[in-house]
Amino acid sequence: MAYELAPLPYDYAALEPFIDSETMHLHHDKHHQAYINNVNAALANHPDLAAKSVDDLVRGLASVPEDIRGAVRNNGGGHSNHSMFWSIMAPANAGGGGAPTGAIADQIAKDFGDFESFKTAFNGAAAKQFGSGWGWLVFEGGKLKIMTTANQDSPLSQGLYPILGNDVWEHAYYLKYQNKRPDYLAAWWNVVNWAEVNKRFATAKG
Ligand code: MN
Repeated sequence: MAYELAPLPYDYAALEPFIDSETMHLHHDKHHQAYINNVNAALANHPDLAAKSVDDLVRGLASVPEDIRGAVRNNGGGHSNHSMFWSIMAPANAGGGGAPTGAIADQIAKDFGDFESFKTAFNGAAAKQFGSGWGWLVFEGGKLKIMTTANQDSPLSQGLYPILGNDVWEHAYYLKYQNKRPDYLAAWWNVVNWAEVNKRFATAKG
């Protein structure tokens, strides 16, 4: 069955002023939709693969036939990454922003000292990702770890579960922040949905 684009779980303007409505329209309706269209096209003759969840598809890249593996890596990755991305954000009136809560707050304190130090480390790594890619938080060997990937590569393909991730493709921020990626990275924490991040942290811990 073909993948479909889920509606945003909030209004396009809900993350203003940190992420503007026009960016959300283009990013969700055009960019995310294009990843879905392209992965569906790549899988048109592979119903066994199309039956998988997109996360399982990206986890199992090695078993994807070579002639479509690149398309699946880029576009299946794009679908998986953006589905995660919309879900881990929320407007302030739905719990977005502020300090981390729950188990992830405790783990951040343990592994990074405090939230400010964690944000500095995450934003620094994401700012340095050359070109398009993502900054990620994963849990490996009993510790939180910050990593980055290029393009639409997912930690899932490395056997890691993304607890949170921020999109540093220019399409994610250029209309509002232009070349100032660090300003976007700093502002983004105002829309992080820590309740959802805690759910993902529980999954990452297994
Ligand atoms: Mn994107």
